[in-house]
Amino acid sequence: MTVSYDAAPALYIDGEWRSGDGRDTQAVVNPATGEAIGQVPLATAQDLDDALAAAERGFAVWKATDVDARGAILRKAAEILRGRAKDIGKLLTMEQGKPVAEATGEVMGAAQILDWSAEEAKRIYGRVLVRPTGQRSIVIKQPVGPVAAFSPWNFPVYLMAKKLGPALASGCSVISKPPEETPACCGALMQALHDAGMPKGVVQLVHGVPDTVSRHLMGSKVIRKVSFTGSVGVGKHLMKLAADNLQRVTMELGGHAPVLIFDDCDLEKTLDMVVPQKFRNAGQVCVSPTRFYVQDSIYDRFIDGFAERTKTITTGSGLDSGTKMGPLANVRRPDAIEELVGDAIASGARVMAGGSRGDEGYFFQPTLLADVPDSASIMNNEPFGPVAVSARFDTVEDAIAKANRLPFGLAAFAFTENGRRANIIGDAIEAGMVGVNSFGISGVDTPFGGVKDSGFGSEGGPEGFDSYLVTKVIHQA
Ligand code: NAD
Repeated sequence: MTVSYDAAPALYIDGEWRSGDGRDTQAVVNPATGEAIGQVPLATAQDLDDALAAAERGFAVWKATDVDARGAILRKAAEILRGRAKDIGKLLTMEQGKPVAEATGEVMGAAQILDWSAEEAKRIYGRVLVRPTGQRSIVIKQPVGPVAAFSPWNFPVYLMAKKLGPALASGCSVISKPPEETPACCGALMQALHDAGMPKGVVQLVHGVPDTVSRHLMGSKVIRKVSFTGSVGVGKHLMKLAADNLQRVTMELGGHAPVLIFDDCDLEKTLDMVVPQKFRNAGQVCVSPTRFYVQDSIYDRFIDGFAERTKTITTGSGLDSGTKMGPLANVRRPDAIEELVGDAIASGARVMAGGSRGDEGYFFQPTLLADVPDSASIMNNEPFGPVAVSARFDTVEDAIAKANRLPFGLAAFAFTENGRRANIIGDAIEAGMVGVNSFGISGVDTPFGGVKDSGFGSEGGPEGFDSYLVTKVIHQA
């Protein structure tokens, strides 16, 4: 199936689209072929200054806009997104690689976030404390101010919406920098907000060299809040930048999710769940199940069943209807994974399925490694790709210690039919989210976020609004 990329990515500042005019550009690459399919304009320093000034003006307008009116625009944008989901999904696939059904589902998920945020903002309550002699202390919540939102390429539309939804519903203005890899599908989300009637200045979209953009925006006192989803290293760097202007930060960083497979689990059912989940979005998911620790007595059966299912996963262009797993999103990923797999093999790991990169584009085969020692780099560094690693454990204590041995703490999973053991694991695992016999840890109404090096702050749920609000007390005598 060939679909032409007829998008013209642009910047969106103060209610208008900008491109050309001698701006530098960067190639947009189809990861299935490695070929350039378009060009994205990079913001100039003047564009970024204009975006800051617009966001300041937009904030003044938007914070004074009634919550129902804000919600109506977000709900309208959600409706527009749903109507365009198939077209936006194709753009997303061309830019990022995932199968088009997953991409279309992602756009529908983004619409759900906008809808939910519009409704939840109505429940941003304050409280009144009654003092003696008629005095009152009134606690109110107000939008924090203009937000810089830096979102990644693995779920470009969904994760951008995850920042825009609660920020905008709370009354903040936003400057959004989406990933360079996926400018057109992110532009389509911005277009939906524009078409829904968003007042100018409330939301802007800037593309550019990430470090140049973040330094410029965070160097301004206009920005009061920074929300970042990406790698631990970049997160730490942005926290240092935020210190200069004491900007609040939300950090959704990497993970390296352990999966504890106990011998009392329903093995066939578990395998049917874990294998597709591992290779969803080619493993480029911060909560992707990755370190499979399997109880001794079922280890061999588990890895045989895992390998058998892994070998049936069809890879190819995300635009082909038979494709179950597309390419990786950028040229850095297959290089990084090849190195990690090579190191694991040199450390004694056995390749049970896959293990190699593809001939063209940025493909890497769905891969299972067995008997991977803790010393292997891949047991310590998130592969962020289609690789599952496995090792044995003996007791519950042993399994928990292995799960907690890394500095990350985003998601963890366990498969067991023993309810008491499930409770112990839920309590003992150092992670922001734990799934027991389930991967359903990320809902629009549940908090999503990590502990330790995986960051802090939540996105999703009522908690997702906290970081866009400041609390004020007004004492009235
Ligand atoms: P990277 O760290 O270079 O970039 C990750 C994301 O951060 C990209 O979207 C990029 O545009 C952005 N970014 C980079 N430098 C930035 C800066 N100075 N200011 C603002 N944004 C900046 O890594 P990569 O090679 O693109 O991806 C690999 C790693 O990133 C993975 O190993 C994974 O840990 C992490 N990652 C995590 C998530 C997530 O959902 N938590 C998503 C994508 C990537």
